[in-house]
Formats: sequence, C-alpha cells, structure tokens
Amino acid sequence: MKVVLASGNINKIKEMQTLLCELCGKEITVLSLKDIGFYDDIVEDGDSFEANALIKAKAPKCKEYPVIADDSGLMVDALFGEPGIYSARYAGEECDDEKNNQKLLKKMDTVPDGKRNARFVSVIACVFPDGKNITAEGICEGVMLREYKGNGGFGYDPLFFVPEIGKTFAEMNAEEKNSCSHRGKAMRKFAREFAEYIK
Ligand code: IMP
Repeated sequence: MKVVLASGNINKIKEMQTLLCELCGKEITVLSLKDIGFYDDIVEDGDSFEANALIKAKAPKCKEYPVIADDSGLMVDALFGEPGIYSARYAGEECDDEKNNQKLLKKMDTVPDGKRNARFVSVIACVFPDGKNITAEGICEGVMLREYKGNGGFGYDPLFFVPEIGKTFAEMNAEEKNSCSHRGKAMRKFAREFAEYIK
C-alpha cells in the first residue's frame, strides 16, 4: 500500500513509514508530495492545528493514495495560547528560532514561576481518496523556563521543560523526546487509527 506524506522532511517520512508498517502489519510505502508531482505552495490559513493539517492533506486532491499531513506548535497558558498556530513565524516573516524564543521570553518576563505552564500540540490528519478523513492529536505538557537549557533539538526546545522527564526537550535524545513528545504521541495514535481504518 502507498500513502503520501505532505512534508518535505525526509526524517518525518522515514519515521512515518516505520511506524505505519509496524502498526498496520503490512508493507506501506510513504511517498512525498514531489513523488506525486505536487509542487504548489500550500496556504495554511486555518484557525487551528487540525484545520491546517487538513488543509495540507486536502491540497494535492490526490485520487490515488491517502494523504497525511501534520501541524504543530506551542501553546502558553499565560499568553492565552500564543504562539499557537503562529509558532513557526512568531517573531515575524524574517524570524528564526532565536528570534521566536527571545520574543517569547520577553512576553513572559513578568509571568511568575508556577504560572508558566504550556503545551506542545500536534495534529496529524489523513484524507482518503473518497474524501473521508481521520485526525489524531498528541499533547505534551510542560513549563516555560526563563533561560535556555540543553543544546539539542530545534524551535522552542531549550525553553520547554517536561516535569515528567525532568529535562527540557533540548536535553533529551531523540528516543526520549519521541516517547513523550506531542509529535510522537500523535504519530502513534494516528498509526493505530489508520491501521484500524484500513483493516
Ligand atoms: P510544524 O507544524 O511541525 O512545522 O511546527 C511548527 C512550529 O512549531 C515549528 O517551526 C516550531 O517553531 C514549533 N514546534 C513544533 N514542534 C516543535 C518541537 O518539537 N520543538 C520545538 N518547537 C516545535
């Protein structure tokens, strides 16, 4: 069986292929958008992670294979859910991880310890050729630090402390992060739902 993953990230494609094969008990090949000849820019103008994941999965209008897409981000309680769906470009068009993190730190400057709760959310959506879809959400609860801790990862990783593990995302190795992360949880949940759906 073949499925398409609406992502250019080769690691995400490999990871999804391994999980789907494991949980579905059959050979599943994960194709990229390029593999199906889709090169358009996708405008992610939904108002939630789920809406954006569905927009990406629907965009290629693929009539041959199911298309899978994900969307994720950080939600800080004290900032009423910011940066949320704007996580990637929180500091504006010319931003990078450093600028996004500095903006977040500044906005949270006066937020006291004990009120710095946040969560990473990931939603994976799959749209089948008949138009039906399934979605799965994964959440990882944490606390925003006041300074960076750890050298690994990307994005907001060095500021996001996971009490359950006692480390920031940036201090975890890939296996550790995958076991507790929003994306790891969403992917495992999604792969189980997908396996059930195609039975
Ligand atoms: P995406 O939808 O997976 O591309 O994530 C959107 C944005 O959310 C990223 O550019 C990061 O800023 C942030 N983000 C999502 N997942 C993570 C994570 O695991 N660690 C740190 N930042 C993340």
